[in-house]
Amino acid sequence: MSGASPTTSDAPILEVSDLTTQFHTRAGVVKAVDGVSFSLHKGEIIGLVGESGSGKSVTGFSLIGLVDPPGRIVSGSVKLDGQELVGLSPAALRKVRGARIAMVFQDPMMTLNPVLTIGQQMQLALNAHEKLSKSAARARSAEALTRVGIPDAEARLDAYPHQFSGGMRQRVAIAIALLHGTRVIVADEPTTALDVSIQAQILSEMRELAREMGTALVWISHDLSTVSALADRILVMYAGRIVEEGPTAQVLRSPRHPYTAGLLRSLPAMAEPGTDLEQIPGTTPSLLNLPQGCPFRPRCDRATDLCSEAPPMTPETGRGYRCHHPLLDGTPA
Ligand code: ADP
Ligand code: MG
Repeated sequence: MSGASPTTSDAPILEVSDLTTQFHTRAGVVKAVDGVSFSLHKGEIIGLVGESGSGKSVTGFSLIGLVDPPGRIVSGSVKLDGQELVGLSPAALRKVRGARIAMVFQDPMMTLNPVLTIGQQMQLALNAHEKLSKSAARARSAEALTRVGIPDAEARLDAYPHQFSGGMRQRVAIAIALLHGTRVIVADEPTTALDVSIQAQILSEMRELAREMGTALVWISHDLSTVSALADRILVMYAGRIVEEGPTAQVLRSPRHPYTAGLLRSLPAMAEPGTDLEQIPGTTPSLLNLPQGCPFRPRCDRATDLCSEAPPMTPETGRGYRCHHPLLDGTPA
């Protein structure tokens, strides 16, 4: 596919190939993102899930070109509507970021300025990419707040961030991310700090927004149950790599990778009533010193000598796994 060709409706909005991001530290090279590939279509929601330290946030930052030194994207490609983002100048990236791709963080105060009203911040965000009169900016801002479920939006424009609850602050951050009709939003644990009922509300609202506006989402979470409530497709990340991917229902019903099966067994909702929840034994490996071969090998009860060779991703597109000994249908998980 050439970057200049017009995008058809089934061309992915975001195409990530072999993305590799590393931190060169005194202690050595941290392979935070190690050859990640996936594509995202209009209005699609992808859930990126894995234990803490697996490289999810660094993947998110890499997608929007916000990896700070000593981190660096060392290879691979991120194409947004056919345009290569890796290697763009900081000025060119700033034009893209906020307008066509945006990020929402766990802490909305990463986006919000405590000393400006919400209306002032939204006006600044709008003016960074468009020339609008003050009244037009206010109207657009109020509309965006209403869209994310903030009541009495016009009046709330004059409030400061601290006058909102945690859930409402996160909605404001989402509204800012959506201001320009953004095509792709990368949301990094955006509801993790919120209480469960607000979390569920925001999840279902985001789903509706993605459908209505055609915005595609990469939803990052350590929590498989959050992701499975929202995502069309799941990517399971382990030690900087995607170890399994597929449509949500398929991954939940028949996980192929022993790591995914372990994540599922540790979910309260998935356990047989009356049985104890299982924890995956061991801990996530340091991304400084990965074991040779499959990084999950030391924690895996299916591992054999074969696993000292890194398993490739299976070739089926959209439903794949990296494992020499996958759980196939009929294998007890
Ligand atoms: P997750 O979001 O899945 O919890 P991260 O993407 O934050 O994981 O981190 C992946 C790896 O990258 C971790 O091993 C972390 O220590 C490393 N890392 C992240 N930021 C830096 C940094 N600024 N310098 C060195 N290592 C980093
Ligand atoms: Mg993280």
